[in-house]
Amino acid sequence: MDISLSSFENIKTNGLKINYYFICKRKLWLFDRKITMEDKSDKILIGKILHQDSYKKEKNKEVIIDNLISIDIIDNINIREVKSSSKMEEADKIQILYYLYYLKQLGVVRKGIINYPKEKKREFIDLKPEDEIKIKDILIDIKNILSQNKPFPVINKPYCKKCAYFEFCYG
Ligand code: SF4
Repeated sequence: MDISLSSFENIKTNGLKINYYFICKRKLWLFDRKITMEDKSDKILIGKILHQDSYKKEKNKEVIIDNLISIDIIDNINIREVKSSSKMEEADKIQILYYLYYLKQLGVVRKGIINYPKEKKREFIDLKPEDEIKIKDILIDIKNILSQNKPFPVINKPYCKKCAYFEFCYG
């Protein structure tokens, strides 16, 4: 689906929501309704500590754009994201593709790198034309999901136990 730049203004969203779209559409909806419990999650805490410790020497850390996307590190060539584990690799990849796409709408072209410091692993990401189409379709779908007046059902995945909404969903 092709959309204009003005349409992008209508469908652009928070980077975390792109990530949640792949993890769980119920989580996406709850987060959008400001039912936020993430600060209590050990996983998020570990992620925050990793951020602080792993890239102390990097410049241009944590760039927030339009209060929607928060890029861990940006330089003249790359943007980089730091993740605590590669278990949600597909969601991480789409999130950084979205950042690359978002920057491109602003006239800024970069490549992406995802760092998994605990696993000593890096993934290199390029924004291809097919990725741009995929991102646009996801943004439209997210807008549709968030316009629903109740959340999707629980998904019963093994990783629900590690989700900050576990008690909310199964309690
Ligand atoms: S606990 Fe499971 S169903 Fe509930 S929001 Fe989290 S991932 Fe989704």
